[in-house]
Amino acid sequence: MPKVTVKVPKSVMSLPENHRDAILAVLAKAARLPDVMEVTHVGGDEHNIWSRNHDLFMADTEDDFYETLDTPAWAMLQNVFAALDLPTGNLDMKKSLTPEYWEWEGLQKAGNKRKKSKLDDAIDLTKKKRDKFLKYLQGMNPFSKQQLKKLDDVLKTKLPDYAKVAESFMTRAGFIGKIQSQSEKEAFEIAGALVDRYPSTIKAADKEGIVLTKREAGRYNEKYGTEGRKVKILPLTPLESKAVQHASHQAADKLTEVSERHRAGIRQMILQAQRERWEPERLAQSLFDMYGDQNRDWRRVALTELAFAANDAYLSGVEEGETVIGMGSTNACKHCKQYVIGKQFLVTHKLPKNTYEHEMKYVWAGKSNYGRRVATYQPAIPMHPNCRCRWHRVSKFYSVDDKGAFKLKTTAQLIQEERARRGLPPDPNLK
Ligand SMILES: [Zn+2]
Repeated sequence: MPKVTVKVPKSVMSLPENHRDAILAVLAKAARLPDVMEVTHVGGDEHNIWSRNHDLFMADTEDDFYETLDTPAWAMLQNVFAALDLPTGNLDMKKSLTPEYWEWEGLQKAGNKRKKSKLDDAIDLTKKKRDKFLKYLQGMNPFSKQQLKKLDDVLKTKLPDYAKVAESFMTRAGFIGKIQSQSEKEAFEIAGALVDRYPSTIKAADKEGIVLTKREAGRYNEKYGTEGRKVKILPLTPLESKAVQHASHQAADKLTEVSERHRAGIRQMILQAQRERWEPERLAQSLFDMYGDQNRDWRRVALTELAFAANDAYLSGVEEGETVIGMGSTNACKHCKQYVIGKQFLVTHKLPKNTYEHEMKYVWAGKSNYGRRVATYQPAIPMHPNCRCRWHRVSKFYSVDDKGAFKLKTTAQLIQEERARRGLPPDPNLK
């Protein structure tokens, strides 16, 4: 602990011991905090789901979660092509996936996170061993019952265990909420920090925390060496654990629902093509276009479900009655700007009241606009699918100006506030 000297007015020193000590403790803590706390560029571009989140832990987790969800969908499409022996020669893949996707894939490849492009994969598809057991022929007889069964088998191969996938990623998101929270309390920068590994189940996360390693140039190097500065993030608290469990159940449900909807869509398209006697090229391109939509669905689901878990875990770590402010990117949508960004709310862990006043004043873990119409939106994060805003605790040591900048309060302000908290009248000698 660095040594701290604070100048305290005489009127404070003459207070009863417990009051005086409490005020001194507040001042001592404030003396170790930076004068201005930078909280810029949080979240990410809400209009481009493929843009990277400004929170690097979140950005990597979004990418990993999306890849985990997309990989079986992409494999399913390839299996369908092989089973139906569909032509791939004239496929326009650039069109099925958007330019934003290709930009994202380019970045992933440049960072060695993704070895193969979907374009390479499509070329492989033309060489892939083709089962042809369901060979698609324009105007052929309807599928037999056995063929339909085979089609279903193709559509169901190697689906992941969505409950497990959801739990693992929601747990990880829960820790990201904790990292955000702790970095604010202890005023450390997250940029450049690494987490060795995250627990993959909630049960494990209730018992073990994670270690964050910060390798940074300058002042920490002398103190911590090349090893980096280690920051311990504790296991989930009971409240955080509950938030992650809720998020995990919801995500598992969502993943199953989306996967089933996608599978049904592919099946229906194949049957429609047969009935309407599409050319094989048309079916091939249509399946790819449909995959493009499904691919974006998975990205959206990944972003949204992670936002639920991270923000609910974050709020669960904030104390009852503390204030949070909504932060978002400059390119956030109008709903976030209207309801959340730059707005302050009180955090509650009590049972929320179902009134307009309560909804506009408080936020709590689990609060969402799930199933609400735009006209009845309430302040919550995520506000909507793809929302990349986040909460930020307004520490009692800082005040927020109109531009959203955090400035350390003056000694006088802190003393007056602490006096008020202890039921003492304001000190007239302090401005
Ligand atoms: Zn938004």
